[in-house]
Amino acid sequence: MDTPTHAATLDRFRRTGAYLTGHFRLTSGLHSGEYLQSALVLQYPAMAEELGRELAGALPRASLVVSPALGGLIIGHEVARAMGARFIFAERDGSGKMALRRGFGVAPGERAVVIEDVVTTGGTTREVIDLLGQAGARVIAAGSIIDRGGGKVDLGVPRAALAILDVVAYPPEDCPLCQKGLAVEKPGSRQIR
Ligand code: ZN
Repeated sequence: MDTPTHAATLDRFRRTGAYLTGHFRLTSGLHSGEYLQSALVLQYPAMAEELGRELAGALPRASLVVSPALGGLIIGHEVARAMGARFIFAERDGSGKMALRRGFGVAPGERAVVIEDVVTTGGTTREVIDLLGQAGARVIAAGSIIDRGGGKVDLGVPRAALAILDVVAYPPEDCPLCQKGLAVEKPGSRQIR
């Protein structure tokens, strides 16, 4: 799948070492040919601002942007800046449920978008959408820099992503990269070019 911003977004990730291709052992123990670490692209504020502007342009205008902590904070803030919207974040409470803390609140019927850096199954975005619905906001869309689930996830609201990937991960015993005899590496061991 492709979007108008697909190639430019992946190029930014590659240039900053945030999108690696090769043969990786993920934290889950699965092997994959691709690895994304969006913190490495978002460490450059100018790039974060550009990505936020592009993502805001792909979404309907909202007065509130909400992101799950920690991964969504920087990009959500930049989307809010581009929209002229307010930005708040959700975080897990003591029981592990997403919550609005720190005095954050929403107005009844407030038009909100939910922003994450990378969406795979959409589970976290869905939790934040539910939380905002319970708080009385109206979630009109969700967005992410990268959709790593091939664009297949249905969140019940319109979605936008700057790049769509279909990342496959394999148990080591079924890994085609292992079968080709390629050495496996742990992400984060390469230098930024
Ligand atoms: Zn492998």
